[in-house]
Amino acid sequence: MSQAPQDIEQLIGLMARLPGLGPRSARRAVLMLLKKRGTVMAPLARIMAEVAENAHNCQTCGNISGATTCEICSDDRRATGEICVVEDVADLWALERGQAFKGRYHVLGGTLSALDAIGPEQLRIPALVERVTSENAREVILALNATVDGQTTAHYIAEVLEGTGVSITSLAQGVPIGGELDYLDDGTIGAALRARRKF
Ligand code: ZN
Repeated sequence: MSQAPQDIEQLIGLMARLPGLGPRSARRAVLMLLKKRGTVMAPLARIMAEVAENAHNCQTCGNISGATTCEICSDDRRATGEICVVEDVADLWALERGQAFKGRYHVLGGTLSALDAIGPEQLRIPALVERVTSENAREVILALNATVDGQTTAHYIAEVLEGTGVSITSLAQGVPIGGELDYLDDGTIGAALRARRKF
């Protein structure tokens, strides 16, 4: 359609798969990159190759890290006995921006979904149960999105943790219904965390 050379078309096709970019904006982005080849495109290509090579999921919490254990899990000051359960790394980053949480995280990597055949094993829920016991956790904070899937997942987790004796809380009001943590401003997310309540 845009009649660009084949490799550029391929680049546009890949860029169009990024969130928030359709074919039209992908094409505009690629044209911009070509114009700024030296200052943006080449450094971007280098850092992308580097990140693709080096980024791992933390074997404990699922956070993205350059090491097998992330900075948060290897920081002893964060062994507070609190584990904050989030859907995605974007939510972990949002909570870290809010600077209200000093404990550790557990990244599920999504929500339960019968439709997409996503069960507890795919979401590292058994690993969470294991951590609660092995880390002697006092509190599990369910910081899942206020969507139907997020809340279904929260209820499931509360159920499987019943009997471990751990206290289960969730973020307070301030998370709009249907809302996603990543879109909250840092102050709101901090307030919702501090005012968390029994789940
Ligand atoms: Zn970690």
